[in-house]
Amino acid sequence: MTQAPRKAHVVVVGAGFAGASLVRNLPSTLRRRGQTLLVDRQEEYPFIPLIHEVAVGRLHPESTLSPIAPLCRGRCDFLKAEAQDLDPVSKTLYTSAGPISYEYLVMAAGSRASRPPEALEEHFRLFWTLEDALRLRSDLNTAWRTTTGPSRGTGQPGDLTVAVVGGGATGVELAAEIAVLFQYLKKRTAGKPREAPRIVLLEASDRLMGWLDPYFHEVAMEELSRLGVEVRLNSTVEDAGESGIRAGGEWFPACTRVWAAGIDLPPLIRSLPGDHDPSGRVRVDAHLSLPDHPEVYVLGDAGLYEDPRHGQLPPTASVAVQQGPWAARDLDRRLRGASSEDRPPFDFFDRGYVVSLGPESAVAEAVGAKFRGPAAQALYRSIFLYYLKDRRHRFLTGADWAMERTIGRLGFGTPEPGAASVEKS
Ligand SMILES: Cc1cc2nc3c(=O)[nH]c(=O)nc-3n(C[C@H](O)[C@H](O)[C@H](O)COP(=O)(O)OP(=O)(O)OC[C@H]3O[C@@H](n4cnc5c(N)ncnc54)[C@H](O)[C@@H]3O)c2cc1C
Repeated sequence: MTQAPRKAHVVVVGAGFAGASLVRNLPSTLRRRGQTLLVDRQEEYPFIPLIHEVAVGRLHPESTLSPIAPLCRGRCDFLKAEAQDLDPVSKTLYTSAGPISYEYLVMAAGSRASRPPEALEEHFRLFWTLEDALRLRSDLNTAWRTTTGPSRGTGQPGDLTVAVVGGGATGVELAAEIAVLFQYLKKRTAGKPREAPRIVLLEASDRLMGWLDPYFHEVAMEELSRLGVEVRLNSTVEDAGESGIRAGGEWFPACTRVWAAGIDLPPLIRSLPGDHDPSGRVRVDAHLSLPDHPEVYVLGDAGLYEDPRHGQLPPTASVAVQQGPWAARDLDRRLRGASSEDRPPFDFFDRGYVVSLGPESAVAEAVGAKFRGPAAQALYRSIFLYYLKDRRHRFLTGADWAMERTIGRLGFGTPEPGAASVEKS
């Protein structure tokens, strides 16, 4: 028996930065019962920009998780389901919980990690989800414990070498955090590791974070070198195995290998009608909608928007959180009968960007000023505390940051039995 479709005037897919900020700003007409339905495949949203801090034990994974249902209270209905396909002609979204008909659809389903070439895939960990961060935390913990414990590792070179592929903001932030983690562990462990920890950051182009102002590259190069990270520019991965990587013509041992080299869009977005870039992002018009289906908005990482002043907008949370509220206002205008001429186009306000370089430093450009060091790190933390919308998460994240120095890092507290250690219990 075919299931009768559910109905909602507006269906929003994805409760991430774009979807949640839209729901928070829904106009009153869309807050009535049955008007708006939020669909997400998870019940809790992990705050992705902070997962590198989970990987190195500075944040508890729970501190990054926000339940989605409370966001909807008094605003919309919530359905936990996976959106699987779309028929824009009959205005039907197919989900794991059955079909849903809509008048307006907002696709805000985010992106996923780009993968290494197929032949190399099994030799790399991806870094995109909270689960990826926890797996990496476990790898780093095992590598440290075994190279400082009685078994002293596999005995092969590279036990304590971490190779991070991708010199975008994610790779840079992760490499800096791992370098600081190893410094922290060195101070707190009595037994010396069998080999010196090594972090290698590989970037195929000649610049880190190429889409940002060159100042970000310059500061990151200095800070990473100060932290002991080896940055290899113009270095493409050619081969990899269980014991290491060949990049830029040179093989080096590395037992922990992380692929953090860009984004990719899932089939649901790739199958949307219209132009797509190589990563699968779909081109949207001035109203953030599909040109041939103006009732379908595509926000956040999934949509490719060419801004008249700033060019192609990058897939970042700072873009997504402006698009959500804008789409809520645009829906309001349409429901009040505005024609497309009466609807102003999306107008992006560039508030700048900040990239963390370990717990003590960062590099930032905000409202025209460029700066670095502890002031930039303070800005970074305050932005994320602001983005973490509920009080519980703000408190938990703030408390994790404050307590790191006193109670130690999470997930790095248990030395291998028999290992000499000065860890606090
Ligand atoms: C490690 C890392 C660090 C980052 N750091 C920063 C940073 O410092 N600053 C910054 O501005 N940006 C950062 N970003 C980028 C930022 O996280 C993304 O740009 C942002 O999350 C995109 O928002 P979104 O709303 O499009 O998607 P998301 O926030 O990813 O939300 C998508 C939602 O859709 C749901 N979903 C996905 N597919 C389906 C489906 N088929 N059915 C139902 N639900 C679905 C997901 O469960 C999720 O809740 C970082 C990204 C990563 C991976």
